[in-house]
Amino acid sequence: MDATAPHVIVGAGLAGAQAARTLREEGYQGPLVLIGEEDELPYERPPLSKGYLLGKDPREKIYVHPAAWYQEQRIDLRPGTSVTGLDPAAHRLTLADGSTLDYARLLLTTGAAPRRLPVPGAALDGVHHLRRVEESDRLRTLFRTARRIAVIGAGWIGLEVTAAARAAGVEVTVLEAAELPLLRVLGREVAEVFAQLHRENGVELRFGVQVTEILGADGAVTGVQLADGAVVPAEAVLVGIGVRPNTALAEQAGLAVADGISTDEQLRSSDPDVFAAGDVARAHHPLYGRAIRVEHWANAVHQPRAAARAMLGQEVAYDRVPYFFTDQYDLGMEYTGYVEPDGYDRVVFRGDVAGREFIAFWTAGGRVLAGMNVNIWDVTDPIRELVRSGRVVDLDRLADPDVPLGEL
Ligand SMILES: Cc1cc2nc3c(=O)[nH]c(=O)nc-3n(C[C@H](O)[C@H](O)[C@H](O)COP(=O)(O)OP(=O)(O)OC[C@H]3O[C@@H](n4cnc5c(N)ncnc54)[C@H](O)[C@@H]3O)c2cc1C
Repeated sequence: MDATAPHVIVGAGLAGAQAARTLREEGYQGPLVLIGEEDELPYERPPLSKGYLLGKDPREKIYVHPAAWYQEQRIDLRPGTSVTGLDPAAHRLTLADGSTLDYARLLLTTGAAPRRLPVPGAALDGVHHLRRVEESDRLRTLFRTARRIAVIGAGWIGLEVTAAARAAGVEVTVLEAAELPLLRVLGREVAEVFAQLHRENGVELRFGVQVTEILGADGAVTGVQLADGAVVPAEAVLVGIGVRPNTALAEQAGLAVADGISTDEQLRSSDPDVFAAGDVARAHHPLYGRAIRVEHWANAVHQPRAAARAMLGQEVAYDRVPYFFTDQYDLGMEYTGYVEPDGYDRVVFRGDVAGREFIAFWTAGGRVLAGMNVNIWDVTDPIRELVRSGRVVDLDRLADPDVPLGEL
């Protein structure tokens, strides 16, 4: 490692900005470069499908730090700059303009990008994806004039955009290949809650359908063709069928990649001077005894902080219990834990499910794997504790709102 070269972070999203901050907080005074291909200061994405999309949150609110902060911290922030090559042996990056940049240690926080629908018509002008702020701006403009849109994919992004469209008075048809929304993440029991929520808000939900084409006339979207012959009329389409980690750079450099950049619990990749964190990292998780990749805000807040400390030679083991949240209509929820599809044997409800004020617990053999609090607040600490402890609990008491969670 060349100690005079800068530490470099590639990917100026939330994870990149958090890592830069931690390097300074931990006393690293040397040169620090933060490179991002978007022409923006690092910003947070959750508002893009919620408050910002609804026009409630102003643009300034999405930024992780104001522009002046990067100068004060002597962080060489380079927006609008793509890194196109990585040579780990030479500790050298190549930028899109052909110039090179040497690093002492490198952190890859390149995030993820929306999957594209592999059908005819997917490149029409009225087909939207949502990852970047300008895509949220386009959707907001669309909602001012559109009467009817189709949302392909009933995952988090699809459902949040649906809720925002409904708030703007737009008719929405949601098209989903599975039998329920969010089925793979939540399982049948809780997926039903989200289906009911959207039905009550006037959304047409069509499950078990296959999209074969996006139909257009004169370059504009007119509808969606389904495999069963039906055509769903729509003036625009939002495709929300998941994301792919941005691993191209790591792959080209020969780093170990398996649906994400493989790292150990210190967030170190297969090269000792290259680290990865945030949506792009598949990190070994000590609590689960295997590598997992988490595509959520809280992971992009905390994991890069651990990676930054590891870059400075500190002993770290990133073992936080995964956490995420969503807001749709009047439903706000937090989910703490990690469950693979079919990885649980029983869902235990505590509270009023029909009234949407409850906690759901995914359990296996009496152990709590995850908990989701819906319109109930300040309970993530005891839920996290239950998950982390791995204790077998009495499921009747777990279901009883009169038993404090801390007593379980
Ligand atoms: C609309 C939306 C709503 C969301 N809502 C929630 C929510 O409610 N709750 C929740 O928990 N999570 C939510 N998330 C997920 C959360 O935003 C992500 O987990 C988080 O953004 C991940 O941060 P990151 O920094 O790892 O990656 P990213 O945010 O993807 O940032 C990576 C950056 O790296 C840049 N980059 C990639 N390759 C290169 C390269 N070669 N050279 C230079 N730059 C490069 C990218 O352009 C990008 O700017 C939401 C995401 C979206 C899109």
